[in-house]
Amino acid sequence: MNRNISLEEISDGKLYDVNDLVKADCRDCEGCFDCCCEMGESILLDPYDVYRLEKGLGVSFEKLLEQNLELHVVDGVILPNLKMGGKEERCTFLNEAGRCSIHPFRPGICRLFPLGRYYEDGAFRYFLQTAECRKQNRSKIRVKKWIDTPDYKRNEAFILTWHYFIRTLQERLTAQPDMEAAKRINLQVLEIFFFREWEDGEDFYDQFEKRMEAARSALHLSDGEKG
Ligand code: SF4
Ligand code: SF4
Repeated sequence: MNRNISLEEISDGKLYDVNDLVKADCRDCEGCFDCCCEMGESILLDPYDVYRLEKGLGVSFEKLLEQNLELHVVDGVILPNLKMGGKEERCTFLNEAGRCSIHPFRPGICRLFPLGRYYEDGAFRYFLQTAECRKQNRSKIRVKKWIDTPDYKRNEAFILTWHYFIRTLQERLTAQPDMEAAKRINLQVLEIFFFREWEDGEDFYDQFEKRMEAARSALHLSDGEKG
């Protein structure tokens, strides 16, 4: 979460750890699909989201960009997001019955909702957005169960690395007066983390670490330069 948003304004004011109970469980949504429509460009994808989509659907990133994803600039950095389409501005993965057609490999932001992440001092905790989910009588559930993501520790380390890497890039690129240089950097990052297909049968996090090393070296970022 960006620091210029007040936590009190959008949440119940508490921060949750992964093993805490939180009132987030909307019990299978029961016919609601509000947060799968009219989300604009807000459902950003990270490399793990794209890896899951590539492997789950058996398609390349290029193919996903033809129908389901789009690219947009977030504070100087080009990132992919879920595309909304049609009159109702629905996510392209929402089926006719109003259910997510890619539930087992849905992106991380969809897994979190209505939770968000609050980053501080090189770590993050979770907060509960109070105005985003229309279900009023949600049940308590453990954060870890709600986000339904295996290998939590490694996933957490990946999320932090990616978050601070993007933040560093954003600081660099918003201060970069040379538009051509900024474009070149963006294309390098897109190629390393999104366009280059993720290998089958090789652990995602191992691949990510290698690519992060390559990106830091290509962009002349030091290991300690994490934002
Ligand atoms: S708004 Fe809440 S109840 Fe509706 S689909 Fe989203 S998470 Fe489910
Ligand atoms: S991927 Fe699934 S859960 Fe996420 S917005 Fe699309 S339909 Fe909804």
